[in-house]
Amino acid sequence: MNIILLGPPGAGKGTQAERLVVERGMVQLSTGDMLRAAVVAQSDIGKRAEAIMDRGDLVSDEVVIEIISDRLDQPDAKAGVILDGFPRTVAQADALDQLLSDKGMSLDAVIQLDVDDEALVGRILKRAAETGGTRADDNEETLRKRLDVYHEQTAPIIPYYRGRGALKSIDGMADMDAVSSEISAILDGGAA
Ligand code: AMP
Repeated sequence: MNIILLGPPGAGKGTQAERLVVERGMVQLSTGDMLRAAVVAQSDIGKRAEAIMDRGDLVSDEVVIEIISDRLDQPDAKAGVILDGFPRTVAQADALDQLLSDKGMSLDAVIQLDVDDEALVGRILKRAAETGGTRADDNEETLRKRLDVYHEQTAPIIPYYRGRGALKSIDGMADMDAVSSEISAILDGGAA
């Protein structure tokens, strides 16, 4: 089973993905994590992505599509993937369709975590404080920019998937266990 977790920064996609990894043996594919690793390694991609990420903009579609394509070719992806932070533009969503069909893979659910922007700002600043501010983009100014980018460039993929009947929206403001249960119900073919 291959799914997309969709929602703005701080919506809880990473936390929920980690739970699915533990509970279902799925593989979390976070383009944000992959890009941060590239920055640490100072690879060509990392060097190009660093400043873009620090200011809260999106890295080019071409770069992230290539990263995801390579990652989907790894044998462990056969266990089922959770796409976390990808796709983030309609062009990426289109490319994902093509990639999955080329690789003989399916997309089984697109789960949107619906959250309130102001609550998100509080959540992310709390994460920044707890992690000692290890993420350069977890400050209020960049966060507001990331939310703007989400609404302008990523939110248009919601109607894209809704139009196909693939979208399931859940209340991302509920507590983590309630969100996990809703996701499980969707994956097990139940409600929501
Ligand atoms: P995230 O950890 O998912 O919040 O991603 C951190 C940053 O990495 C984003 O603010 C973007 O700069 C970049 N990034 C991650 N995923 C993508 C993507 N699918 N498309 C473009 N940029 C991305």
